[in-house]
Amino acid sequence: MKRIAIIGGGIAGLSAAWTLEKARRAGQDIDYALFEAGSRLGGVIGSETVDGCIIEGGPDSFLTEKPAAAQLCRELGIGDQLLPSNDAERKTYILVRNRLVPLPDGLMFMIPTKLVPTAMTRLFSLGTKLRMAREYLFPPAPATQDESVAAMTLRHFGQETVDRLVSPLLSGVYGGDASQLSVRAVLPRMVKMEQEHRSLTRAMLAARKKAPTTSGRPAGPPPSLFTTLRGGMSQMADAVSAQLVPGSVRLEALVHGLGRNDVRSENDRAWTVESTYGREQFDAVILALPAWASADLLRLIDHPLAEALSGVPYSSSITMTLGYERADLANLPPGFGFLVPATEKRRMLACTFVHAKFAGRVPDGKGLLRCFLGGTGNDELMDWDDARLTQTVLRELEEILHLNAKPNFVRIHRSRRGMAQYGVGHLERIQLVRDRVATIPGLALAGNAYQGIGVPDCIRTGQEAADVALRAVQAERIPAASTAR
Ligand SMILES: Cc1cc2nc3c(=O)[nH]c(=O)nc-3n(C[C@H](O)[C@H](O)[C@H](O)COP(=O)(O)OP(=O)(O)OC[C@H]3O[C@@H](n4cnc5c(N)ncnc54)[C@H](O)[C@@H]3O)c2cc1C
Repeated sequence: MKRIAIIGGGIAGLSAAWTLEKARRAGQDIDYALFEAGSRLGGVIGSETVDGCIIEGGPDSFLTEKPAAAQLCRELGIGDQLLPSNDAERKTYILVRNRLVPLPDGLMFMIPTKLVPTAMTRLFSLGTKLRMAREYLFPPAPATQDESVAAMTLRHFGQETVDRLVSPLLSGVYGGDASQLSVRAVLPRMVKMEQEHRSLTRAMLAARKKAPTTSGRPAGPPPSLFTTLRGGMSQMADAVSAQLVPGSVRLEALVHGLGRNDVRSENDRAWTVESTYGREQFDAVILALPAWASADLLRLIDHPLAEALSGVPYSSSITMTLGYERADLANLPPGFGFLVPATEKRRMLACTFVHAKFAGRVPDGKGLLRCFLGGTGNDELMDWDDARLTQTVLRELEEILHLNAKPNFVRIHRSRRGMAQYGVGHLERIQLVRDRVATIPGLALAGNAYQGIGVPDCIRTGQEAADVALRAVQAERIPAASTAR
């Protein structure tokens, strides 16, 4: 029987474990063990219920258009728990000079596609609106190499679009810095649009024309933008865990050493994993860890690989969820919440009106606000204690929303170095990682450092890493493995 180790029990590692479990049930002669340093599975995914309210410490949902997460839930028998966002209520505001300005209708990320709402919005000055019109008529030349998202936005739509739209979108959602994130890694679709049409506005309008109309789509309303689970995102981790072979999960199992062995006979296995549980031997290893943690384990095995991995930056973040009486939130504007540009000089990056975004998150008469803080360049917040963070957020909520009611409860979750940031040159770095991994038989990598940091992307990398490991152990001589793609 071949043995496969999965190191890391976040959603990427769990997805790898589920893929291996399906292979085992299909008759493959394998055994697997999942090592997780923490006391629970799920990694940054962590839901809890307080006063009947469902609180998410990490991701609160996933993009519906990426199918891997919903597909996993269906396979696990929890498809009936999938819950779409209330898109009829979808409205997002940007804080501009301490006033909440709605994002204009027809904006596709940074690209305006509707004339009247763009012309009427208070989000942009007249100069920026004229710049947007010019982009349609006289677009800039396409870039010849990778650049930051901010640089591409600046070339097409000007600095105000960077400051008021693109930066808050990237920092409020992923804790990223638009002036550092790679446009080729984060927004590949825009790069392709620029190459094909030069003007992003023209490209987006052409894409919309080609998109299936209501008549070409299956009957029913269009799919929601976001999907979550009725009982919280942790349902996904719990559902995988319930399907795994009893005894295959090792919790509080920090892996501190990884070694390659000479395989000379049938009884030798290629890998040694050293953890809190002792030394164990495996035929293949899946590292479903943040890149910096994988780098630590691989340093003695392949130094250039470890160097490439440790060069992937990570940001830290904090979510603060505050429970209120609904009556206290009566003055909230309708919508999902707001984003705060860095130019507003606030600590808060974003605030979600949770009770409006999804049905059933709170009991009747209650309301929930989730504030997001931290991100690139704000590491010092990670050292603030709960009292200081709470005081700061309450003050900002009062100044922005005129909310001075005392919350019924406050829950704070810190994620240290949890969000990979795809800097300029990320794709080349990941190609280097792939090339090195391909020279190390029985090794596969998964997680948010490679090809997308969202939950569905991490699930996909876990599945692909498991396939690589299965192929490696099935082969007579272990062949070259490759990074999860
Ligand atoms: C606050 C926050 C909000 C987010 N919001 C969204 C969202 O709304 N939608 C979305 O799609 N995505 C969101 N994301 C991104 C997404 O949730 C993550 O990218 C994804 O869940 C990461 O999964 P992972 O398995 O790769 O890593 P992790 O969840 O980080 O799991 C890695 C695991 O490895 C373990 N580990 C580390 N070192 C060792 C070791 N040496 N030995 C054993 N175990 C080890 C850790 O304890 C951890 O459990 C958010 C992320 C954060 C932090």
